[in-house]
Amino acid sequence: MKSDPSNSASNSQSRHFIQQMIDTDNATAKHAGRVHTRFPPEPNGYLHIGHAKSICLNFGLAAEYGGLCNLRFDDTNPTKEEQEYIDSIKNDIRWLGFDWGDREYYASDYFEQLYQWAVQLIRAGQAYVCDLTAEDTREHRGTLTEPGTNSPYRDRTVEENLDLFERMNAGEFPNGSRTLRAKIDMASPNLNMRDPVMYRILHASHHRTGDAWCIYPMYDWAHGQSDSIERITHSICTLEFENHRPLYDWYLDALGVYHPQQIEFARLNLTYTVMSKRKFLLLVKEGKVEGWDDPRMPTIQGLRRRGYTPEAIRAFCTAIGVAKFNSTIDVSVLEECLREDLNERAPRAMAVLRPLKVVIDNYPEDEDELLEAANHPLNPAMGSRQVAFSRELYIERDDFMELPPKKFFRLAPGQEVRLRYAYFVTCTDVVKDPTTGAITEIHCTYDPDTRGGNAPDGRKVKGTIHWVSAKHAVDVEIRLYDHLFRKENPDDVPDGEDFFVNLNPNSLEILLDGKVEASLGDAEPGSHYQFERLGYFYVDPKTSTPGRPVFNRTTTLRDTWAKLKEKN
Ligand code: ATP
Ligand code: MG
Repeated sequence: MKSDPSNSASNSQSRHFIQQMIDTDNATAKHAGRVHTRFPPEPNGYLHIGHAKSICLNFGLAAEYGGLCNLRFDDTNPTKEEQEYIDSIKNDIRWLGFDWGDREYYASDYFEQLYQWAVQLIRAGQAYVCDLTAEDTREHRGTLTEPGTNSPYRDRTVEENLDLFERMNAGEFPNGSRTLRAKIDMASPNLNMRDPVMYRILHASHHRTGDAWCIYPMYDWAHGQSDSIERITHSICTLEFENHRPLYDWYLDALGVYHPQQIEFARLNLTYTVMSKRKFLLLVKEGKVEGWDDPRMPTIQGLRRRGYTPEAIRAFCTAIGVAKFNSTIDVSVLEECLREDLNERAPRAMAVLRPLKVVIDNYPEDEDELLEAANHPLNPAMGSRQVAFSRELYIERDDFMELPPKKFFRLAPGQEVRLRYAYFVTCTDVVKDPTTGAITEIHCTYDPDTRGGNAPDGRKVKGTIHWVSAKHAVDVEIRLYDHLFRKENPDDVPDGEDFFVNLNPNSLEILLDGKVEASLGDAEPGSHYQFERLGYFYVDPKTSTPGRPVFNRTTTLRDTWAKLKEKN
């Protein structure tokens, strides 16, 4: 066992409640010291950041305790499940850095065993075939304050039940005409215990079992037994299953089989984000986003295309911890984990999002030079590169103001600034379009003695701006993203509306005349950069073509530039 018990005891404050439970279980040899978890997705959509929390938890605990974690697809619903989802789920888990070895399981692998167990319960008088329609079943169920009423079919004989169940399985009856139900207690205060449905008739092809079955187990009938078959020790699920636990316990006890221990934890919710495969499916189907991997989506695929790293997501899942109470995490916590990771790994580069032409009048027309630029301000091991400088440059439109307010330290008529890694320049003139009055270019002079960005006379400038050489720049498409929803809680909607009303109309801005320094012309798809002063950018693996990278802005910077300013 990897964990050191003395260490975990002394650390009990910082260990979350599931770790503490496992420590206790191990101390009392409850599962003979075994730790065996599983991640059980339903293959009906793409994984999202909420699933990442569960993946990190289940695989993380197994690794921590020297145990195992299975991947199990809970594929009990043939009409909503597809191979595409299975492939993407496996891909996402691997990308997050986890490995289930050869333990890839499917609830559908257990259909035969589940069927045999259902027969066992019928024989024991603990399950019956019910002919109530779905609507009647609901009506008989009662409410939170009123008990339910027994189905008129509840007292069928074992023989009749066995016969009908067999015929259900043989395909004799149409969809929805009969169900198999557990005979528990229609007056139970827990609605899940009021004779829950175990099997429904569904003449539908299953992505793995094909047409072998026309009855399918309900999730609640399949889930606990699947855990039991796999001899899971700690069956970790989200809080909404807490009141299903008595039912899972009832099934396992009635069958007399191995009994895993279910532990519930709070699901992840994030501000400005919905968190449900069903809602993501709606966003995709209704064309509100460009697909499951749209960089605004909190799906793993979306985050990945946005430029998130597995390291950042894992750090986030560790940082938020595991609790028993539902809460909503500020999405900025996720972004901050990302910045911390990218700050270390992303080489710096210069790019201009909204270019404004600058002509340096006293710089020779037919000359260029190369200036040295560090790839990382704090990590010399990342080396440096040569950046071309010439008479015509681009700067960011909003780094120039013709009539600046007092504290505007960037470029303005008569004002001197530093061009990063290059020279001090002073603005001397502004050229405008005679009809629209829009600024088309500005003119500057440079001080040749300030090469590299420092003046020998010790003179200071208050602003440093980024730039690219017009002649050397590469034209690129740059995509800026903002929160997909404009409300902190996107599910907070007026009566009669759906969550689409809270979509942020400005969540995507496409800039078609971005300019990047020449070194980025052949930037590798899937690589990260920090564009100085602008944020972290990711070369979109999906839309970039050789020589024409498309940059997704992963996230804005925060204080990085402020720190740089201090240093200069
Ligand atoms: P969704 O509502 O998005 O479909 P789900 O819970 O139905 O989510 P499953 O495929 O059943 O999705 O989930 C697989 C595992 O991931 C389950 O153990 C579930 O508890 C966990 N999980 C799902 N959403 C979250 C979340 N937001 N936070 C933590 N764990 C989650
Ligand atoms: Mg589900």
